[in-house]
Amino acid sequence: MRLFDLHCDTITELEKKNESLAENDGHISLDRAGYLTEYVQDFAIFIPDEYRGKAATDYFDRVYAYYKKQLSANGISEYAERQNTKVKSILSVEGGAGMGGTIEGLHHLSDCGVKLITLTWNGRNELASGCFDEEDIGLTAFGRDAIREMEKLRIAADVSHLSKKGFYDLADFAQKPFMASHSCVDMVDNFKARHRNLTEDQIKIISEHGGVIGINLWEKLLGNEDNSFDAVLRHMSRMIEIGGEDVVAMGTDFDGCDINPDLAGIEKLQGLYDYLNIHGFDKKLLDKIFFANADRFFSNLLFTK
Ligand SMILES: [Zn+2]
Repeated sequence: MRLFDLHCDTITELEKKNESLAENDGHISLDRAGYLTEYVQDFAIFIPDEYRGKAATDYFDRVYAYYKKQLSANGISEYAERQNTKVKSILSVEGGAGMGGTIEGLHHLSDCGVKLITLTWNGRNELASGCFDEEDIGLTAFGRDAIREMEKLRIAADVSHLSKKGFYDLADFAQKPFMASHSCVDMVDNFKARHRNLTEDQIKIISEHGGVIGINLWEKLLGNEDNSFDAVLRHMSRMIEIGGEDVVAMGTDFDGCDINPDLAGIEKLQGLYDYLNIHGFDKKLLDKIFFANADRFFSNLLFTK
């Protein structure tokens, strides 16, 4: 099977522990990904909500240096370079605070090869309200400027963690497709899921704009007290009913959240693939979900005239 995963926090975690992507005890290591025939991984540099301005950009730069070292040490090319390596990477920033609140800061991220920006984390930043902001102010004026500039720079906007008003402001304002890199369907009743998952209306809008949604494996969002594979099946099936087959992708959130042991690691995804196959998802649909939908999104973003 091939895999295109829209979100993980692996590089941020490895930097903290000074560990290698080749081998480690986290959710993603290259030795355990060896069974994949083709593998594109989005690596997010996660900007904590306590960092704003220069603290945020300095933090980005530090993790970015680690990211570049891991790429060259392990023979990984960047997706945008279109090289023929088995493992390819896409760099994203989780938290638009990584721009440091300026358009110059956004240009710096672009120069570093960032192709996707999760506009907010849970709190408010210079661009917008996050999903747990007490007062939802939607997109700010700077947020609008930044999104217009991101569209010019071919950097996609990611609405996972964005507030509801922020989402609708973006949907009105965006001229290019956008995505939710790691979110599930709003059908799980706990505080975090109610804020982080997407309503039917949001799923329809993302789909109508040509976007994709990466299914998150976090147990809180899946609501998987019982069987994780079955919970993923339920979320995917519902998302397909609402938004069609071209919207669903993978956004594992590996190394960023608590995942049930039966799914907690890249080596477990073959089991999920097989389970979905036995339960009615044919191989063409599975390839869309695990690879082709995300590939279509980024290929349109980066390689169209
Ligand atoms: Zn996240």
